[in-house]
Amino acid sequence: MKTVIIGGVAAGMSAASKLKRLLGDAVEIVVYEKGGEVSFGACGIPFYISDHIKQGKELIARTAEEFAKSGIPVKIYHEVTAVDTDAKTVTVKNLQTGEVFDDIYDKLVIGSGAGVRHFPPFDRSYSNLFEIRDVADGTRVKQALFDENQRHVVIVGAGFIGLELSEACRHYGKEVTVVELAEHVLPAFDTEISEALEAELAENGVTVRVGTMVQSLVEEDGRIVRAVLRRGEETEEIPADLVINSAGIAPATSFITNVEKAGNGAICVNERMETSIPDVYAAGDCSIMKSAVTGDYLYAPLGTNANKQGRIIGDILGGVQPKPFKLIGSSALRLFGIDAAKVGLSEKEAKARGLHYKAHMITGNSYASYYGTEKLNIKLIYDADTRKILGAETYGQGIVVPRANYYAIAIYAGLTVDEMGFMDLCYSPPFSGVWDAALIASNTAK
Ligand SMILES: Cc1cc2nc3c(=O)[nH]c(=O)nc-3n(C[C@H](O)[C@H](O)[C@H](O)COP(=O)(O)OP(=O)(O)OC[C@H]3O[C@@H](n4cnc5c(N)ncnc54)[C@H](O)[C@@H]3O)c2cc1C
Repeated sequence: MKTVIIGGVAAGMSAASKLKRLLGDAVEIVVYEKGGEVSFGACGIPFYISDHIKQGKELIARTAEEFAKSGIPVKIYHEVTAVDTDAKTVTVKNLQTGEVFDDIYDKLVIGSGAGVRHFPPFDRSYSNLFEIRDVADGTRVKQALFDENQRHVVIVGAGFIGLELSEACRHYGKEVTVVELAEHVLPAFDTEISEALEAELAENGVTVRVGTMVQSLVEEDGRIVRAVLRRGEETEEIPADLVINSAGIAPATSFITNVEKAGNGAICVNERMETSIPDVYAAGDCSIMKSAVTGDYLYAPLGTNANKQGRIIGDILGGVQPKPFKLIGSSALRLFGIDAAKVGLSEKEAKARGLHYKAHMITGNSYASYYGTEKLNIKLIYDADTRKILGAETYGQGIVVPRANYYAIAIYAGLTVDEMGFMDLCYSPPFSGVWDAALIASNTAK
């Protein structure tokens, strides 16, 4: 069996590794990767930029040479430009030599991820306009940040990556402005959480401009020198020595046209990662699957999903029943001194869907009150009739993200707030009060 894999990072290499472990020499695998890096942890790039992680190579799990030794040839700088699903061939361009050739497959795995969206005025290149997708991008930004003459950083987009980058840039003492079109940072989260993050950003010297767009860029000799911001009818110019575009991503799927896709171009897959075309699978940021909470397609471009989805494909192609995977929609970040997490639906998502829900929030202790003073907040969203948990958001200090994770499990299992309220959780003062904050949040839900 010959398996061709497009993309050599989380989804693609998870599929390749699992399949090779299961079938050994009985499978021929070839991975085409258009970039020069494979199997790297993009999630660590903001911490590499902040210099918490010193070397970019620490983010690389395995190199192309190491994969080749284990029987998985990875052709770097090879871009798949087209797929013929009738002939079962892919057209590949060697980006170093310009050679173009076709390769055949029995099974095709698409793990091509997503690229940064290039919309005006970020649709042309400047020497000081950056984006972050791979380790080399991180190195370029880091080198620019080491330059003391580059004082003003403008970050476009206040999603996870933009916010993590704002902290990284503050480590170098830069004047950082984050520009966000929505009315709050981290727009997928409820307003309480976004406002807490905005306060944390302000306290740590990051300027945040919400409800604002970067209308244009002023350049001198191919370098951006100022950004023109627009909020409503008002415009304002701010200095910009470094601009980082982190305002969204677009699935990299243009090389295949006859497969079912969502509006953003992501390839629709079922829970077995099968696409609408036989023998073609997709996983990770290039794909979209249905949420276990709502039953509707949910684009969740996260490393946590890409790894699992890739492994599912490896299992299926290797003839093994994959482990069940339900997409809950779980994400977290640390921003200076505050942690925040979201699982399942936020209140605004439940409202937008017209669900009959209730929302409930508490402030609790991360540890036993006599043991530590760190506080966290828990917001629960649950079905007003069945009392099943639909979502949870946590933010604050101490043990914040693990408590959101309890609720991810509760959502998976279809638990009600009442079942969650008497859950037999571990207790010892360094970890919680005798009534864990997650139990209190559940028990006080009316
Ligand atoms: C800065 C940053 C921080 C992040 N932090 C987190 C986090 O904290 N938690 C989390 O869960 N997720 C995080 N993510 C998201 C996570 O990194 C991605 O979800 C994950 O990398 C997706 O893996 P993937 O294999 O689907 O796609 P990618 O990692 O994008 O890899 C796809 C590969 O396919 C290649 N490719 C594309 N088109 C072609 C083609 N036509 N031919 C050949 N090759 C092609 C690309 O060059 C790319 O190398 C972060 C991402 C970034 C950028």
